[in-house]
Amino acid sequence: MSGCQYQGYEFGAGYPDSICIDGELWDADSGDGEFLTNGGDIPCPRCNTTTFLRRALSDAKDGGCGLANFYPHVAMLDWEAAIAKARKENMPAAEEFLQDVQPFKTDDWPDRDAVFANPTLWDRTIEREWRFDGANGELVGQGCGE
Ligand SMILES: [Zn+2]
Repeated sequence: MSGCQYQGYEFGAGYPDSICIDGELWDADSGDGEFLTNGGDIPCPRCNTTTFLRRALSDAKDGGCGLANFYPHVAMLDWEAAIAKARKENMPAAEEFLQDVQPFKTDDWPDRDAVFANPTLWDRTIEREWRFDGANGELVGQGCGE
């Protein structure tokens, strides 16, 4: 059994509660101390970066938006957060993966600041095109809130 020493916040405790075992993240607070019982299906962003981004890309292409614990989320924002995490943990692997990702459209908010100021606007989405070059493409029609 080996890990990469990655510690993160994936299980919601508010402190670093995830540990990497063989490229998958586990909840350090689960189980009885000897065996962890929660996790094993979240790719590690540091040592399993390609799988981590491939999963995030699949989720992003599925689209979606919602409100979780009064906190609004939308597919494009989740995808950008995954990219930022992958780049922070393993820049070379992240860049290698991302440069092969073709532009695609997914759900976003027309004005993110407005949604964070007023989370009840979470379902007013648009479709936005993501591109590797950062030119956050044009807005095209309605997304997950239609
Ligand atoms: Zn790892």
